[in-house]
Amino acid sequence: MNDVNKQAGATGYDSDTLAVRTGVLRTEFNEHAEAMFLTSSFCFNSAAEAAERFANAEQGFVYSRFTNPTVAMFQSRLAAMEGGEACMATASGMSAIMSLVMSTLQAGDHMISSRAVFGATSTLFGNIFSRFGIETTFVDQDDIAGRKAAVRPNTKLFYLETPSNPLTEIADIAAIADIAHADGALLAVDNCFCSPALQRPLDFGADVVVHSATKYLDGQGRVLGGALVGSEEVIMGKVFPFVRTAGPTLSPFNAWVLLKGMETLGIRMERQSANALELARKLEAHPLVSKVFYPGLKSHPQHALAMKQQKSGGAIVSFELAGATPEAQRELAWRVIDGVRLCSITANLGDTRTTITHPASTTHGRIGAEARAAAGISEGLVRLAVGLESPRDIHADLMRGLDAGKP
Ligand SMILES: *Cc1c(COP(=O)(O)O)cnc(C)c1O
Repeated sequence: MNDVNKQAGATGYDSDTLAVRTGVLRTEFNEHAEAMFLTSSFCFNSAAEAAERFANAEQGFVYSRFTNPTVAMFQSRLAAMEGGEACMATASGMSAIMSLVMSTLQAGDHMISSRAVFGATSTLFGNIFSRFGIETTFVDQDDIAGRKAAVRPNTKLFYLETPSNPLTEIADIAAIADIAHADGALLAVDNCFCSPALQRPLDFGADVVVHSATKYLDGQGRVLGGALVGSEEVIMGKVFPFVRTAGPTLSPFNAWVLLKGMETLGIRMERQSANALELARKLEAHPLVSKVFYPGLKSHPQHALAMKQQKSGGAIVSFELAGATPEAQRELAWRVIDGVRLCSITANLGDTRTTITHPASTTHGRIGAEARAAAGISEGLVRLAVGLESPRDIHADLMRGLDAGKP
């Protein structure tokens, strides 16, 4: 197989070019599109070659639990786009997070995570890894002093997600990287909401980028996938031995779908962000909307920090509906959601189709009213993951429910 880029001597390309051109391994047939290698194993020419490959599995293809050419193409492309040395793909975003912790920590270690992380991430850290002797301290997204105070001699990993879901709170990646590195710990950043098209955490000092490729990398709501990007030392030295042994591997079919999704990532993120900004501005002006959460708005308390780290505000907009009581707020939120005919009522995000959710009764429904209040998630909150439809049509769709609620 030929690495097309290595032959072309490709270096220094912009992200948009990398998205369509990097990581192309071409077979003897010289196919133009990436080939899908649906094979569980690879043949050897001799017993000696088999022994050699098994000993140095990263040097060649052995078995698709270790790696596979289609998966390798996805890994090279994402590593290049995030500006990292290496990438390890996994079956889902959650298995990427599991693999990160399993390969970099051990029983007795401690980690510091932002409280505002994806629900399953919070459960994985707080309820599952805790059973295996890995303790997590949760701190507020913007709390720098709290992170310093939480450091223990056994703190090995800092973890965050920025912007957060659903309130779009921003974490200062460079400031938190400094604290982590002062204590010899790693900083991992879940870059799912921005994708490398809008934000590259490694440029701000993060050590590992985490992805749920299920979201914007696919971009069309088709397959699950995940990935970790970072240094050769962490990814190939620690994560690869774990993944090849434990098996949370990405399927070649999913890798192929993701490769094609990534080719349009830049233009999708640009357009979906522009649509989100237009909607956020319109929502901000509506009398029944008490608050809009969107990092691209000047009214966002961390707008300046967001614009330092991100190319634009991203495609997630949350807004809060006014109401005298939580019950009234929920009623209005549900009326807006039930009123839509265009937006999809579904939990996924990162799709070309706009999705709408009520976090308090879905994604954050099980955490209890007190924890919800502490997290700032009210009954009136609605989250939109803005897609590629015309923002005028999405706005009209939302207004159906809102206007029905006019006193
Ligand atoms: C969806 C999501 C995950 C989990 O990814 P899966 O692919 O569903 O396992 C992790 N982090 C964030 C921010 C997500 O949105």
